[in-house]
Amino acid sequence: TDPSFIRNFCIIAHIDHGKSTLADRMLGVTGAVADRDMRAQYLDRMDIERERGITIKSQAVRMPWELDGQTYALNMIDTPGHVDFTYEVSRSLAACEGAILLVDAAQGIEAQTLANLYLAMENDLEIIPVLNKIDLPAADPEKYAKELANLIGGSPDDVLKVSGKTGAGVEELLDRVVQRIPNPVGNPDAPARAMIFDSVYDTYRGVITYVRMIDGHLSPRERIQMMSTRAVHELLEIGVSSPEPSPTKGLGVGEVGYLITGVKDVRQSKVGDTVTTAAKPSTEALPGYTDPKPMVFSGLYPIDGSDYPVLRDALDKLKLSDASLNYEPETSVALGFGFRCGFLGLLHLEIVTERLEREFNLDLIATAPSVTYEVTTDDKKTVTVTNPSEFPGGKIASVEEPMVKVGILAPKDYVGTIMELCQGRRGALLGMEYFGEDRVELRYTMPLGEIVFDFFDHLKSRTQGYASLDYEPSGAQTADLVKVDILLQGEQVDAFSAIVHRDKAYAYGVLMTERLKKLIPRQQFEVPIQAAIGARIIARESVRAMRKDVLAKCYGGDISRKRKLLEKQKEGKKRMKMVGRVEVPQEAFIAALSGE
Ligand code: GDP
Ligand code: MG
Repeated sequence: TDPSFIRNFCIIAHIDHGKSTLADRMLGVTGAVADRDMRAQYLDRMDIERERGITIKSQAVRMPWELDGQTYALNMIDTPGHVDFTYEVSRSLAACEGAILLVDAAQGIEAQTLANLYLAMENDLEIIPVLNKIDLPAADPEKYAKELANLIGGSPDDVLKVSGKTGAGVEELLDRVVQRIPNPVGNPDAPARAMIFDSVYDTYRGVITYVRMIDGHLSPRERIQMMSTRAVHELLEIGVSSPEPSPTKGLGVGEVGYLITGVKDVRQSKVGDTVTTAAKPSTEALPGYTDPKPMVFSGLYPIDGSDYPVLRDALDKLKLSDASLNYEPETSVALGFGFRCGFLGLLHLEIVTERLEREFNLDLIATAPSVTYEVTTDDKKTVTVTNPSEFPGGKIASVEEPMVKVGILAPKDYVGTIMELCQGRRGALLGMEYFGEDRVELRYTMPLGEIVFDFFDHLKSRTQGYASLDYEPSGAQTADLVKVDILLQGEQVDAFSAIVHRDKAYAYGVLMTERLKKLIPRQQFEVPIQAAIGARIIARESVRAMRKDVLAKCYGGDISRKRKLLEKQKEGKKRMKMVGRVEVPQEAFIAALSGE
C-alpha cells in the first residue's frame, strides 16, 4: 500500500470511557467485521479482559475507509489503558502518527486520560479530541468540550461528539482520522526496520509479533533478525489483522501487521525491539527498548502444597505470553513452597494471580505486596531486598525506597480528604491544578510502598469512587525504614515480616499480633505472639493454654462423635504448620495475611 493512503492511530482513554465499544463500532461501520460476526469487545481477546472490561494486551486491526473516492487503510492500534502497562502504551503510541483522545461526556477528563495524553504528546502525535457516550442523559458535552479545549488548545467546536453505543458521529470521526492524521513516512529502499509493539503467545501458532514498518520491506519466507539479540528466525507468515489474520505478500513502509516465526516464547520477540532482515540488516535500531522493570513483589503459594509443581508449570506457561512476569522459587515456614514473583504493578499482580487460579485451576495465597529496597549496612555493603524476610540483620546505615509521581483527579470538594490521605502516606505535594470549574488534579511524590498497600481502596472510599489515580516511577529516596518481625513463641514467622516506616511499625505490630491471636488455636501451653524490630519487642499478645478438661469431655461420649472428631483432627493435621513447637493451621496464616 502507498503510505499516503495509510493512517495509523490509537485510542487513548481512561478505563470505562468506552474505548472498546468505540473500537467495535468502528469495525462494524467500516465493514471490517460483518454484523453477524460481531460480538462485544471483539478486540479484547482474553476472557479475563472481557469479563473485567479491561484491555491487557494491545492489538492492531486494519480497516478500509473511503473518503472522496479514495480508499484508505486505517490501522487502529489498541492500547492498554492502565498505568501498570505504561511501557506497552508508549510502544503502541510510537507506532502511530495520531491518537483519538476519548473522554466520557458524562465524566470528563480523568487521571489516565491525562497520563496517556502526555505520553501521546511526547510522541508528537496528532490529537483528535472526542467526547463519547453523548447518548447518556447525564452527558454534558458543552461543559466537557470546553474542558478538553482548555487542556489541549483549540476551540470547543473542534471536539467531536460521538456515541460508540448508537454509532452517532462515528463516520465523521473516521473522516477526521483521514483528514487530520499525517500519513506515515519512511524510506522504502533502506534496509528493513520494523518496530515490535506487541507480541502475544498463541497455543497453536506460537508467538505472534505485531510490528509497525518504518523503512524497507519484509517478505514471506525471508530470514529476519531481532536487533537487540541478533537472533535470526525464519518468517513463516506475514500479514495483517483485518481483524482476522490474513497473510499478505509482505509489509512495506508505514504498514502495520503481524509476523509468525514459530518461536514459542515471547521473550524472543520483545516489545520495543527492532526487526530487520538477516540478508541486508540495518545498522541502526529504532529508539526505545528498555526492559520493563518489576515494581511490586509478592510471594505466591499454593494453598494445597501438592499443587507446587502445577504452579511452577503454570508460571512457565504464563511467562511465554507475558515477558514482564518474573519469578523464582521461595520457601516459607508459614506457607511452604512457592514463588517470589515480580510484577509491573498491582493490577498486574491481580491479573496474574487471577489467570493462574482460573486458567490452571489453582488456589493461591499471595503475601503482602512489597517493593524493592536498597539496604546499605554499616560495613558499606548494599543489598537489594524484594522480600522483607531477607532484610539484613545487624546495623543498617541507610535504606532507599522507590518513589513515584502520583496524579489524582477528583471533584474539588474532596481536596481536603485526599490531602489528608496522601500526607498519611508520606506524600509531598508537588502541585495542584484546576480543570474546568469543579475538578482538580493533585500531584504528589510518594513512596511506592505506601501505594501498593490498599491506597487505591482508601482513595476510592474517601471520594465516593470519584477520584482517579495514575502514577509513574520517579527515582528512589532514603527513609527511616525498619523491618518488623512477627514471632510465635520466639520463632519468626517469615511471611509476616514487613518493611515499614518507623512511625508505622507499632501500628503494624499491633494489627498483626491481634489478628493472629484471634486465629491461632489454643495449644497445651501458652503461646506468646510478639512483634519486634530486631531484638526489641514492640507489641505482644498471647494465646492462653488449652484447659485440660476440654479433651476429657469427649471420652465417654458417644463413640461415633469421638471418631468424627479424630478424623477431623487427622484431616486438619495435614495442613498444620509447625512454628517451633506451635502447631498452626495454614488457614490461620492465610486469613491473617488476607485480613479476613
Ligand atoms: P473501555 O474500558 O474504555 O474499553 O470501555 P468499554 O468500551 O468497555 O465501555 C465501558 C462501559 O461504558 C460499558 O458498560 C459500555 O457499555 C459503556 N459504553 C461505552 N460506550 C458507550 C456509549 O457511547 N454510550 C453509552 N450509553 N454507554 C457506553
Ligand atoms: Mg476496553
